[in-house]
Amino acid sequence: MTLGEFDLIERYFSRRTARTDVLLGVGDDAALLAVPPGQALVAATDTLVEGRHFLAGAPPESIGHQALAVNLSDLAAMGAEPAWALLSLSLPEASEPWLERFATGLHALASRHGVELVGGDTVRGPLVVTIAALGFVEASRALKRSGARPGDLLYVSGWPGEAAAGLAALRRGAAFVADDPLVRRCLYAEPRLALGRALRARATAAMDVSDGLLGDLAKLCKASGVGARLDLERVPVSCELARRHAAQDCERYVLHGGDDYELLFTLPASEAPRLEVELAREFELHRIGEIEAGAGVRCLRDGRATGVAGGGYDHFA
Ligand code: ADP
Ligand code: MG
Repeated sequence: MTLGEFDLIERYFSRRTARTDVLLGVGDDAALLAVPPGQALVAATDTLVEGRHFLAGAPPESIGHQALAVNLSDLAAMGAEPAWALLSLSLPEASEPWLERFATGLHALASRHGVELVGGDTVRGPLVVTIAALGFVEASRALKRSGARPGDLLYVSGWPGEAAAGLAALRRGAAFVADDPLVRRCLYAEPRLALGRALRARATAAMDVSDGLLGDLAKLCKASGVGARLDLERVPVSCELARRHAAQDCERYVLHGGDDYELLFTLPASEAPRLEVELAREFELHRIGEIEAGAGVRCLRDGRATGVAGGGYDHFA
């Protein structure tokens, strides 16, 4: 970038934390990081493109938040401890007010989860934000998509669909203000790191819902070589969603909306009753079905087979 590049990095993206495992952070050619002995490094990266992953005109704080949150959600889905992040930023111009606000959103989420930004790249170009998040987990306790077995019970955390409804409101012209709970959920959803941690070595399979519950459940089933029964009447609809949308629209948001960072996971049948009670003390979770032998997802409503319209998000479809 321009002469200002180094000042810009220094001012907005070079922020040490209390982490002692960052042997060398921003400033050298690469970061030097100490992974705790016996742990596997967990790495995820996601790119946000203006107009595709966030709306033009979105508050810069929300872009900084989302860019990190989407990655931390992937670490949560693995049951990982988040630790470090790298930021690749392509910017049309080095606007200080924009950078200040973007960095505020990014660092606020990072510090809530003890994550240190340890490097990155800064170039001039269209507004594109790529973050790579790194963390660790004992490999044998990591959560994967592939461990679901017939008889396992199927759960989703929290209230999926709210972010998609918030996005729809923004597209219809709602203001980018966080006092609307659905808009807030779209702009500032929280990755479920504590739940991921609690599911470690307990859930047989897990993934985060990013492209819609139904489509993502199909992915989990495929990875595990199983099928699933989804009980539509059990799929959670938040009060806010129900209050503002017709039942049919609620279901569409919940089944096909992504980016709430909720976790979809399975518990072994024998331990599910105990684990469910234990987990429910700390987390919102909903049992929504059961893993079956076979392939694909069967949707039932009050016990009767039913079709469901629409699909998840596919960039190349
Ligand atoms: P190089 O040319 O060797 O890749 P750069 O000049 O791109 O180095 O970056 C200098 C230092 O600043 C590196 O440590 C790099 O990781 C860090 N850095 C660059 N851009 C960012 C950014 N947006 N956020 C955090 N660190 C950054
Ligand atoms: Mg570089």
